Amino acid sequence: MTVTELLSYDAALAAYDPVMGLEVHVELGTKTKMFCGCSTELGAEPNSQTCPTCLGLPGSLPVVNAIGVESAVKIGLALNCEIAEWCRFARKNYFYPDMPKNFQTSQYDEPIAFNGYLDVQLEDGEVFRVEIERAHMEEDTGKSTHVGGATGRIHGASHSLLDYNRAGIPLIEIVTKPIVGAGERAPEVAKAYVAELRELIKALGVSEARMEMGQMRCDVNLSLMPKGSQKFGTRSETKNVNSLRSVERAARFEIQRHAAVLQSGGTIVQETRHFHEDDGSTTSGRVKEEAEDYRYFPEPDLVPVAPARAWVEELRAGLPELPRVRRNRLREEWGINEHDMQSILNAGAVDLIVATVEAGADSAAARKWWMGELARSANEQGKGLDELGITPAQVARVAALVAEGSLNDKLARQVLEGVLAGEGSPDEVVDKRGLKVVSDEGALGAAVDEAIASNAAIADKIRGGKVAAVGALVGAVMKTTRGQADAARVKELILEKLGVSE
Ligand code: ADP
Ligand code: MG
Ligand code: ZN
Repeated sequence: MTVTELLSYDAALAAYDPVMGLEVHVELGTKTKMFCGCSTELGAEPNSQTCPTCLGLPGSLPVVNAIGVESAVKIGLALNCEIAEWCRFARKNYFYPDMPKNFQTSQYDEPIAFNGYLDVQLEDGEVFRVEIERAHMEEDTGKSTHVGGATGRIHGASHSLLDYNRAGIPLIEIVTKPIVGAGERAPEVAKAYVAELRELIKALGVSEARMEMGQMRCDVNLSLMPKGSQKFGTRSETKNVNSLRSVERAARFEIQRHAAVLQSGGTIVQETRHFHEDDGSTTSGRVKEEAEDYRYFPEPDLVPVAPARAWVEELRAGLPELPRVRRNRLREEWGINEHDMQSILNAGAVDLIVATVEAGADSAAARKWWMGELARSANEQGKGLDELGITPAQVARVAALVAEGSLNDKLARQVLEGVLAGEGSPDEVVDKRGLKVVSDEGALGAAVDEAIASNAAIADKIRGGKVAAVGALVGAVMKTTRGQADAARVKELILEKLGVSE
């Protein structure tokens, strides 16, 4: 790999303003493909989910998937777009072995949704508006696997395998208008936008939008303008970036690369680029086609799509609460600040905390356990909170046991640990491990008497006014009760018995 010259990030931003365009492809979660009845289920035997239509065989005719259109309209509405009264599909002609029709059925100058925006919140709480150019419907291609080479790329491979199960799966492509004015925060805006879009798609229930599964991928277009100039530079397009972190890194890398090229008097070529996860770099792909190279023309085999206004309004009325609105509502209900909300979001804990509160816990307790003990376990195991094997109802039960005084925090942690270790429900763990706060006053009183008797010197100190020494006695009681006493109550009892007040 050739070493790419980079300018330092600060130097690049001192001389140039970045312009960014983000194209996000979302694979819809429909049961069947966009233009035929083949299943979209993942993991099937290669080429077992195909038919004459998605294989592009002569004489086959496509039919539009109604749920695909409905999903597109929902996405458009959630992105504050206008919805076309009438639009058509178009053929985007190009040859690729994984595209058996030799054209992709897409939309061109008549997208189903256009002219919208998405407000995204940056880490410091500021809201940045990203304007949306269009959201259009299209279909995915098949999948090529190049065999026999060292790199998995076509170069050096002995042969290639083609799986058409993915060919024809519905995609929505969402394209932003050029994003200007983000300055040094352009990479952060890119990441925040894709994150917000992903939340939105999930909230709409139209796709699981799992980037690591390729259900959502982003092309990052980037160019630089010399500071003070309004004229866009030539862009590069880094294709198929498939994690939030990578979106941010790709934008950052391209800013530094463009700046180095421009500053040394070079010119940027309009091309696609590949992103490399390992070192965060990009390398040249192919020189970019212009739209006319695709010989777009309206698809003659499909009827135009004309969403009735009443139906569009029905879908609008049925939109769920949007993620940013919901987050702000929860933040207020929980009485926490922006920063804490952001941490909860990053930990993927929002829905778990909501469910725990719905199961009866108060929100402070729900947050405390999910963001404390459980987050730590998840970290250690390299898992998501939702993969730990503990349910919100179980966390709520632990919180209830603490609230009623049957468990203290220390014991509660042991109960959680037991549930995570597969020892059963919280109540079962409490029984099996014998974890209960000793609340029997008689038993506690005896333990306190014993501690005072065997630590006479300390007891005298306390009687003499050195109340701070009480900690040692509390510790002794906790030890004899194996941590199962309520420490605050123990302290009260000791002071009572020694006849001192705090
Ligand atoms: P293509 O299919 O050729 O990639 P699109 O219009 O679908 O073209 O997408 C181009 C994306 O790049 C859009 O998000 C657009 O706003 C953005 N864009 C256009 N010109 C520039 C530029 N000079 N610098 C950065 N982004 C740009
Ligand atoms: Mg593009
Ligand atoms: Zn098919």
